[in-house]
Amino acid sequence: MARITLSRVSKTYPGGAQALRRVDLDVADGELVVLAGPSGCGKTTALRLVAGLDSPSGGEIAFDGRRMNDAPPAKRSVAMVFQDHALYPHLTVRRNLEFGLGLRRTPEAERSQRVASAAEILGLQSLLDRRPQELSGGQRQRVALGRSIVRQPRAFLFDEPLSSLDAKLRGEMRSEIAALHRRLGATMLYVTHDQIEAMTLGQRLVLLDDGEVRQTGPPIEVYLRPANRFAATFVGSPAMNLFEGVVQAGVFRGGAGEWPLDPAPALAGLAGPAVLGVRAEDLLLVTDENAAAFARAQLRTVERLGHETLLHCCLEAGAGDCVVRLPGDAGGWVGSVRLAIRAGRCHLFAADEAGERLN
Ligand code: ATP
Repeated sequence: MARITLSRVSKTYPGGAQALRRVDLDVADGELVVLAGPSGCGKTTALRLVAGLDSPSGGEIAFDGRRMNDAPPAKRSVAMVFQDHALYPHLTVRRNLEFGLGLRRTPEAERSQRVASAAEILGLQSLLDRRPQELSGGQRQRVALGRSIVRQPRAFLFDEPLSSLDAKLRGEMRSEIAALHRRLGATMLYVTHDQIEAMTLGQRLVLLDDGEVRQTGPPIEVYLRPANRFAATFVGSPAMNLFEGVVQAGVFRGGAGEWPLDPAPALAGLAGPAVLGVRAEDLLLVTDENAAAFARAQLRTVERLGHETLLHCCLEAGAGDCVVRLPGDAGGWVGSVRLAIRAGRCHLFAADEAGERLN
């Protein structure tokens, strides 16, 4: 397996679209890194450059420290798994699995052994003589995965492989891919814009926005301590609540109300416009009349999901909307509510376009 390194990689398409801007990305040998970001941010472009399907306009792509910028796809030996699994409809599962190998003139005995091993890993043994149209969507996706496994690539590149599956199947395949990663110890770069895949699949999450890396880290760290407003609102569902206002003497004042920020060295002497971010689970309902509150809000809708309840609120004085997450089933709330913020859970961001974290 290979370590993949992108150093200051840029890509500008002939029409002028700048898809990647000086991207640094490192996938260690045997690591699973998830690359996430909104539509058009450059995810697929990054994968295509690693696979050798297109070449960068600047920077360097290296495998195990060896420059690969000009190496053709066949020399790179990486496998790409796409959303549309493109199986050959007239071939059986066995022949589909063998296909990549046949072209490489792999000896018959080794071919059968590799197919048997991939079929065993993915539980496809009983399906080897069927054709793709006789399989379910999840089974077809497994065959597509199997086809990449038999090639024994140096790395796997996944481009939203589960996005055409329904929610239940997606959940199953997600855990299969995680298990596959554990079993093969393979280097994997996995592109998605799915929240759950971004949070749960990778050891590290890389967030891309408009061709730039905005944050890299273990997913839970990105969730708990987003480096900027983009990361704060991209990761997590519902998105983090944002309130505009000003900071002075350690207190945030916005249209919604005011709240003392948890003391932090970075806040000392800070004064001026800022954006306060609070996750839905960190907004608390205040029922005690005498207790301090950050804001007053009108309830608009209540979503009872069983395992949690989401209160969609409209802040008073036209200060915007927010969502409150309560654990379990908590129906019965109506009218207006008072909100406080859980201690230690204020995220403060600059009010400018970059929106970097301030605390
Ligand atoms: P999605 O999640 O929608 O697939 P993405 O993050 O994978 O998006 P890319 O497909 O990498 O994004 O595209 C990045 C940018 O480059 C977009 O602005 C896109 O329009 C542009 N782009 C992609 N391919 C080409 C191309 N062949 N020619 C010109 N521009 C392109």
